[in-house]
Amino acid sequence: MTDRACEGEDELIAALQRYVEERFAQEDDVLVALRQALKDHGFPEIQVSSSTGRLLQLLVAASGGRRVLEVGTLGGYSAIWMGRALARNGRLTSLELDPRHAELARDFVARAGLSESVDVRVGDARELLPRLGPDGSFDVVFLDADKEGYVGYVQEALRLLRPGGLLLADNAFWSGRVLEEAEDDATRGIQAFNEHLARESRLAGTVLPVGDGLAVAVKVG
Ligand code: SAH
Ligand code: MG
Repeated sequence: MTDRACEGEDELIAALQRYVEERFAQEDDVLVALRQALKDHGFPEIQVSSSTGRLLQLLVAASGGRRVLEVGTLGGYSAIWMGRALARNGRLTSLELDPRHAELARDFVARAGLSESVDVRVGDARELLPRLGPDGSFDVVFLDADKEGYVGYVQEALRLLRPGGLLLADNAFWSGRVLEEAEDDATRGIQAFNEHLARESRLAGTVLPVGDGLAVAVKVG
């Protein structure tokens, strides 16, 4: 393909993404204000895309949305998208290492009216995950914290998910770096995660080209 044809294709894909976003993934005032607050605090603006937020929301709804676990809260952007799809009495637990991120997230979870159903816990997911349970009690586990930890988090997710539960993970494309030879631990972490997902017999998965690549897998058997 010539470069020009490729450029045209990029523009077409971008236009189609906008078309979908405008119709299906509109942010409300709370989510817009949260993105601004991340900027104002000088926090990393690495929340999921609005299209990914919408997809997470639908997957939570499809799963029944009774118990959801997120690893990596940041300011609560993805947590709010998912929290809005919880069943009545459903709960989202979200784990966050940085207490300043968690504080902002709790503030915005409250602004979204979700304080009763969304629980932000501060700590290292490596320590918090093994304490969660009971086994097989979660409908959805969404990974979006340190990429070096992803493969280890899968083991905990497999323990925590019910049969038919969903394992989701953001950044499966890692801005295209998955295609290159890894020069850092985060890229190696994502590559190892994708290979693991492809091979793990207890998970039937794939990567959807939404946002930075959303890995989606069902716990089988
Ligand atoms: N899911 C969020 C974005 C998360 S960004 C959203 O889309 O809105 C990744 C977050 O993971 C950061 O806030 C970072 O502090 C947190 N994090 C990194 N390592 C972690 C760990 N070991 N345990 C828990 N959280 C971690
Ligand atoms: Mg991410």
